Amino acid sequence: MKVQLLPSTFDGQGHATLEQRLTCYLIDDCVAIDAGSLAIALTAEQRGAVRDIIVTHPHMDHIASLPIFIDDLYSTLEEPVRVHATAEVIALLERDVFNWNVYPRFSELKNEFGPVMKYVPIPEGKEFKLAHLTVIALPVNHIVPTVGLIISDGKSTVAFSSDTAETEEFWEAVNRTPRIDALLIEASFPNSMTELAEVSRHFTPASLGQELKKLDHNGMDILAVHLKPAYRDLIIEQLDALNLPNLNVMEPGRTYSW
Ligand SMILES: [Zn+2]
Ligand SMILES: [Zn+2]
Repeated sequence: MKVQLLPSTFDGQGHATLEQRLTCYLIDDCVAIDAGSLAIALTAEQRGAVRDIIVTHPHMDHIASLPIFIDDLYSTLEEPVRVHATAEVIALLERDVFNWNVYPRFSELKNEFGPVMKYVPIPEGKEFKLAHLTVIALPVNHIVPTVGLIISDGKSTVAFSSDTAETEEFWEAVNRTPRIDALLIEASFPNSMTELAEVSRHFTPASLGQELKKLDHNGMDILAVHLKPAYRDLIIEQLDALNLPNLNVMEPGRTYSW
């Protein structure tokens, strides 16, 4: 499985910068997880291949460019962009984003080929198929309804925590999975900001270190994501101090294969 954390920002030469402001992963060039930077980080050709987007939760850094992505493609879509999310998240997207105030209600609009956007409700805790992938969505502990994901292409399996603090069901499902090749997990704030991390339900390196003790598997790649750009260097220092040989920080723009 190929997984790319799409860049949020670019330097003057058009190269991806390391700061991650927005969240969007591209899997095997065709399925997106979240859509923070989806409309700004893909070439026109790449955009043409993405019609399935899983939205883990409706926070701005995860959906910022979802309306723009559909808008850009509006007249050319020969099939709708499918937004896969739990019923709760779909209701929040309809109420707070695609509400004719923040942006048009694309789920009611058609171009000459048909509907431009379609919601696909996903179950929690139960496997489902999406394109060539098998997916399980598990509730995690964030300030809005949010799911973590375990995704397999039949050869390799990758777990995505999304945004979360201490959680249980996600780890139980991860530990039940016979083999996990990689875990992409958030580490938002430095240890000095524990209080803010707790109220906004995110990890610090210290709480992440504790949380990883719930993991039964050994040897998988663990990639930290969602580091707040203002504290990136400090968070990396504190992650290094955990002394976990498999733990690294995921690089935006780089394609990882498992
Ligand atoms: Zn969030
Ligand atoms: Zn976030």
